[in-house]
Amino acid sequence: MSRAGTPGLVFNEPLLWDIGSEGRVGLSIPRQDVPHTTPSGELTREDLDFPDLGEVDVVRHFTRLSQWNFGVDTGMYPLGSCTMKYNPKTNERQAALPGFSQAHPMLPESMAQGALQLMYDLQEFLAEITGLPAVSVQPAAGAQGELTGMLMIHHWHQARGRQKSKILIPDTAHGTNPASAALCGYTPVPVPSADHGMLAVDDVAAVMDEETAGIMITNPNTLGLFEEHIREIADLVHERGGLVYMDGANMNALMGMVDVRNLGVDVMHLNLHKTFSTPHGGGGPGSGPVCCTPELEPFLPVPRVVKGAESFHLESNYPESIGRLHAFYGNFGMQVRAYSYILSLGPLLKKVTELAVLNANYIKESLKDVLHLPYDRPCMHECVFNDEKQKDLKVTTLDMAKRLLDHGFHAPTVYFPLVVQGAIMIEPTETESKETLDQFIEAVRTILQEAETNPDLLHEAPRRTKVSRLDETAAARKPCLCG
Ligand SMILES: *Cc1c(COP(=O)(O)O)cnc(C)c1O
Repeated sequence: MSRAGTPGLVFNEPLLWDIGSEGRVGLSIPRQDVPHTTPSGELTREDLDFPDLGEVDVVRHFTRLSQWNFGVDTGMYPLGSCTMKYNPKTNERQAALPGFSQAHPMLPESMAQGALQLMYDLQEFLAEITGLPAVSVQPAAGAQGELTGMLMIHHWHQARGRQKSKILIPDTAHGTNPASAALCGYTPVPVPSADHGMLAVDDVAAVMDEETAGIMITNPNTLGLFEEHIREIADLVHERGGLVYMDGANMNALMGMVDVRNLGVDVMHLNLHKTFSTPHGGGGPGSGPVCCTPELEPFLPVPRVVKGAESFHLESNYPESIGRLHAFYGNFGMQVRAYSYILSLGPLLKKVTELAVLNANYIKESLKDVLHLPYDRPCMHECVFNDEKQKDLKVTTLDMAKRLLDHGFHAPTVYFPLVVQGAIMIEPTETESKETLDQFIEAVRTILQEAETNPDLLHEAPRRTKVSRLDETAAARKPCLCG
């Protein structure tokens, strides 16, 4: 059963200023029984350009606007490299508990024991999940975790009385990797991935020289493939005096299955707003904890949460630390949500990984006869197709992605990773049922039939959404925000 064609009523929604009508009010309060006075020098209600509105005007206005939106609570969101999994509502409940949501960040430690314990326990959980024993939950995003890791590597070399200038970064890396290395002062050196989509030891050996501080490896990489030679590569980098950073944004494919320390990784970040089901929420707030070996522990950001004999406290006396990266302790509300998620699943986190990988392989196998699959091998949590089979029809990845909106699905990630021309990157996550996956597969197959019989349907897509295809550059540079 396709979900297409039932978008419901879509109202045009004017600005509140155009809906308002003078004298309309949202609430009635008793008539004033004292003389009306206006504090001098202050703006009064009359001076402000606010529309007069009834309660129902306001409720409908914002509810309608919310209906133009699409989120994980609306439907499947197969955006690859983003792990747009469902965010369980219990996490929100726990984060809203007054003891957490109303705790002031400057409370004395004695009054914040519960919050400190939660941070400490979350660090312990993440240490167990990754196999790397020292953790900081301070970084506020994946990219900030990467910068933390780069700074730690920089300080580690410095403590050995030397400095190096380069970081190796595979060509399948997320764009934040070279950016984080550069922000730390390193020159990113690209390493080509070999024909099978993974890094080859020889290719790393060819560029790993005296000036190289280390390597940043995304694992699984952005082709959705496990870097099978990571251990040999790590040994090589270590032999030549470098360290290994792992971009662990894609931990949804490894949780409970892989001990990252055994891969030879020295330091990595996790994305709580991916693997651990905290919301991505319009660009933030996020959380990108960093996990490392005991050798790198002294360089972790401060303050660190420490467990004493009877209480928890914040400790900043780590002379080798890279310092502070974020005000207070990072995005605490996200830490509560991730803690709730981990506790509610426990050992079932392993099942999350199994299902995420199974779902991605199911989609890969179900669509590879109609979409070109550049790397036809078992994938991890996501799979990458492209538009090669549709070339003669003059139908592109963008056309297919836009047409998916008409069929009731969010578009996948397109034109990334850059190593695949016209890439279509699909990450279903473990939270979708087989029925939903089948609906998605059917929608893609229907679209590919349309591409043959009526390609204009794709060229003009989307047609059923509030706005049709936009000039994306103009929409970003000159946004029209009035509906
Ligand atoms: C999402 C992602 C990042 C960056 O995370 P942010 O929280 O968006 O900064 C880094 N690497 C990979 C592989 C990612 O998928």
